[in-house]
Amino acid sequence: MGSKPPHRTCKLERNDRKLELKLYNTLTRKKEPFTEIEKGKVKIYSCGPTVYSYAHIGNFRAYIFMDTLRRVLKYNGYELKHAMNITDVGHLESDADEGEDKIAKAAKKENKDPYEIAAYYTDKFLKDLEKLNIDKPEIICKATDHIKEMQEYVKKIIENDYGYETSRGIYFDISKLDKYPILSDRKIDEQIAGARVEVDKEKRNPEDFAIWIKAPENHIMKWQSPWGLSYPGWHIECSAMSTKYLGEEFDIHTGGIDHIPTHHENEIAQSKGNTGKIPAKYWMHCNFLSIDGGKMSKSLGNTYTLDILQEKGIEPLAYKLFCYTSHYRNKLNFTFEGAKSAETSLIRLREGYQKHLEGTEKIETSEIKELEEKFETAINDDLNMPVAISVVWDIIKNPKKSKQLAELLKKFDQILGIEIDKKEEIEIPEEIKELIEQRNKARQEKDWEKSDQIRDKIKEKGYIIKDTKDGITIEKA
Ligand code: AMP
Ligand code: ZN
Repeated sequence: MGSKPPHRTCKLERNDRKLELKLYNTLTRKKEPFTEIEKGKVKIYSCGPTVYSYAHIGNFRAYIFMDTLRRVLKYNGYELKHAMNITDVGHLESDADEGEDKIAKAAKKENKDPYEIAAYYTDKFLKDLEKLNIDKPEIICKATDHIKEMQEYVKKIIENDYGYETSRGIYFDISKLDKYPILSDRKIDEQIAGARVEVDKEKRNPEDFAIWIKAPENHIMKWQSPWGLSYPGWHIECSAMSTKYLGEEFDIHTGGIDHIPTHHENEIAQSKGNTGKIPAKYWMHCNFLSIDGGKMSKSLGNTYTLDILQEKGIEPLAYKLFCYTSHYRNKLNFTFEGAKSAETSLIRLREGYQKHLEGTEKIETSEIKELEEKFETAINDDLNMPVAISVVWDIIKNPKKSKQLAELLKKFDQILGIEIDKKEEIEIPEEIKELIEQRNKARQEKDWEKSDQIRDKIKEKGYIIKDTKDGITIEKA
């Protein structure tokens, strides 16, 4: 993993044929062969969380998808430069500039400083990413650390005549664009007819959106700017930070499908207004985790956190495995039964790995290559994890137990990230613990016969004791 060896191309090579990496691009609405801008390097930007509350398992579906993308790119030999933001200001209750700032609202409700709120939930989010063994982006950047860059970005949009000032803030003039929207096929007229947004007479076009917002007097998060005390719009954050860390054009932009119609659409608009370019070549979006058929979301109050899952005996990596049961572009409905069965599957996968590790049978090289090719074809086919997992199960179920297969599973875990080689901790009954103590005593007294007898007794009761240089290990028979 990591940087690519100099002598090979960036594509996986198997049996003299290159395995092409294909990714679905929302912008072109097609699965496309992936080609990077700068040879061997991939620059990615992912929209991070708005840290006003605990991230829920729906949010984590989006970051598990991001993790898979990173792992697949690395597996293909690419070096990554990946930035993810933390939205700690500017995300209003509606994505379309309406309502209160989510962080400020939470700060008022909890009677805390907004920075304290953001720091607390950011820390929790990062810890949860670790629990999920998510390969973190190289750069994690906070919106409030980039106010200057955002203001510069806005100034350039105004200079280029794509932005204008009203009494509420700086707005983006969408009529200046050759095409809007381009990422989604939503119809502007339909949206306006829906009268979701009150008409603002100062706006040149009803769909113009705020890139910089003037702060009402009692607003807590605000900064000096050429336009008075004010704060950034949510979309400008990502435009300014992606440009700072990845440049005007980078390879991949990721997010959830809810970002398509507004947030990412507006990021593209802003970029066109600033540089004249679409910032990313590939736009990738993860579908929703649903519950009872509807979206899981904080505003609907139907969310679960990783902690709740853990309280119910479902380990975070089992949830990750659960996410692999559906392709990232398909909906996935969450149920506790489903998550529990993923927990059982995770245990079976780990046990299956251990059995192969202890195996002595030989597997033909051609069989190994075939399995490898199947797995790699699946992951390179727009991250098709359900198919990749089915290959893993074929290996686990192979009646021939072989170290070669264990090695292959370990290699595949570079993509899965489920710690397949982790030994399950087993609960040892009191009775067995006592027998172990008696055996330890016998060994101290060098009574080897008695020690062996106790070991056999323990085995009869279903546990195997092994003596190693670091002490004993216990497994279920
Ligand atoms: P937020 O903190 O609301 O900005 O969301 C963080 C990420 O989670 C974004 O990429 C959203 O698209 C994604 N997201 C939110 N809810 C869900 C869900 N139910 N399923 C999948 N992704 C989601
Ligand atoms: Zn974003």
